[in-house]
Amino acid sequence: MDYPKKISRLDDLIFDNRFTRELPADPETVNNRRQVFGACYSRVLPTQVAEPQTVAYSREVAELLDLSEEVCKSADFTQVFVGNRLLPGMDPYALCYGGHQFGNWAGQLGDGRAINLGEVVNCHGEHLTLQLKGAGSTPYSRTADGLAVLRSSVREFLCSEAMHHLGVPTTRALSLILTGEQVVRDMFYSGDPKPEPGAVVCRVAPSFTRFGSFQIFAARGEIDLMKKLLDYTIRTDFPHLGEPSLDVYLKWFAEVCRRTAEMIVHWQRVGFVHGVMNTDNMSILGLTIDYGPYGWLENYDSNWTPNTTDAADRRYRFGNQPQIAFWNLGQLANAIYPLIEQVEPLQQAINVYTKTFEQGWQAMVAAKLGLNTFDSATDDELNTELLMLLQSVETDMTIFYRKLALLVMDVELSDEALMAPLMEAYYVPEQITDAYQAGLGNWLRSYIKRVQASGIANTERRNIMNAANPKYVLRNYLAQLAIDKAEQGDFSMVNELLELLRYPYDEQPGKEEFALKRPDWARQRAGCSMLSCSS
Ligand code: AMP
Ligand code: MG
Repeated sequence: MDYPKKISRLDDLIFDNRFTRELPADPETVNNRRQVFGACYSRVLPTQVAEPQTVAYSREVAELLDLSEEVCKSADFTQVFVGNRLLPGMDPYALCYGGHQFGNWAGQLGDGRAINLGEVVNCHGEHLTLQLKGAGSTPYSRTADGLAVLRSSVREFLCSEAMHHLGVPTTRALSLILTGEQVVRDMFYSGDPKPEPGAVVCRVAPSFTRFGSFQIFAARGEIDLMKKLLDYTIRTDFPHLGEPSLDVYLKWFAEVCRRTAEMIVHWQRVGFVHGVMNTDNMSILGLTIDYGPYGWLENYDSNWTPNTTDAADRRYRFGNQPQIAFWNLGQLANAIYPLIEQVEPLQQAINVYTKTFEQGWQAMVAAKLGLNTFDSATDDELNTELLMLLQSVETDMTIFYRKLALLVMDVELSDEALMAPLMEAYYVPEQITDAYQAGLGNWLRSYIKRVQASGIANTERRNIMNAANPKYVLRNYLAQLAIDKAEQGDFSMVNELLELLRYPYDEQPGKEEFALKRPDWARQRAGCSMLSCSS
């Protein structure tokens, strides 16, 4: 089949809805909240809204869908991607899935405020599922309203695209559209509900299947259904593994482990904290999914989480993400066990996570330091010592690594001279005591010696570092400033950040203000350092 190259009318998009065609549907079509048994999804229509307005769209995702600029700027685009008009071929549905939330089995969750529109086939023959987040309630909405507010939608939209350009596997975001309606939210669950502007993000991914998609069937003993979903998943998203069989199930699980490990290494590289790594928020494709109370490390702190809902245990803190991913994979292994019925091969497959993570972590550490290989004999200690130094005084992680590339590679220099290019990374100058300075000076000299012993040229070192250490990330306070403006009807900063974050590793002269460390006012401001699940 020949697919057209560019679409000038949305009606010309081609849909091939394999998921709804091949997997069992909930026979009930009334949109009330319920437990859904024996089905992978429920058909449900997006809620109509009064006065939608497009805030921003991603040109790269538009391109992925073969959409021209004119189409994206049309009134029809706004109507379609807010959920007001269905295109021919769309078959909207919400997924049924479960999950462990904060370590506890939570039963059925499902797409409570996400409605999948269908699978577009682009000019390369790729299938991409379109999903509206915030388009109204579904059978899985439980006690909530199925809506999303502008602030969380700006955050999801910008971060999806920022992550993609950073090279981190992620679901994508096509569009951010205001609904024109108000949504009431109690931002910190403090008994202070307020109306906020509602919005819809159109997310795009090859599949939105989660660990919890399998867990729900295992928990209910619906093993046949789990097998159907797994066979379908292998045939559509993992066709290179071959036709489903016991052996292919194990290969599939090993691949999920590998992809998850690679994703987590990237998170640790760029300083991303997901915030809610529940098993319903883990993609089987190893994509970062569900941008809620996530955050970016400003000062390096392995104990940090932006999620106030997790403040007590800090289960999903930065430094815990690798262990949590492993725990989550263990839950997925438990879920598919009835299809395997042997512990040993599942155990071996899950070791793929540990191995991939270890190798990926080492390669990542080496790249962040501008080394061409990781030598365990020296580099484990070199890295551990650096992380201790970064943690010991408030040090901006992004700035530090970026400026480390500018280090003058001369061990004879004084501590102060060596540190000079790094000074911008420090939040509290008084914390830089003589002892700290001496410690960092020693570390920098060890580092210089390590680089010199490797024989790597300085320009090469810088190139490796600047490709691994972004200059621009979606700093928490920048997203909040863009939100503040957007809430006043000014979308310029959303679009400016979208543009900036297309090239996170480039210097981008004139844009340096966006690479500065967090200003002091943002230290304790809601939305900047503290977020909750309320969105
Ligand atoms: P999260 O932790 O944000 O991934 O959400 C956990 C579950 O709650 C998922 O099943 C979501 O679909 C659902 N959920 C979150 N917010 C809402 C909302 N405003 N309305 C309906 N369901 C929601
Ligand atoms: Mg979720």
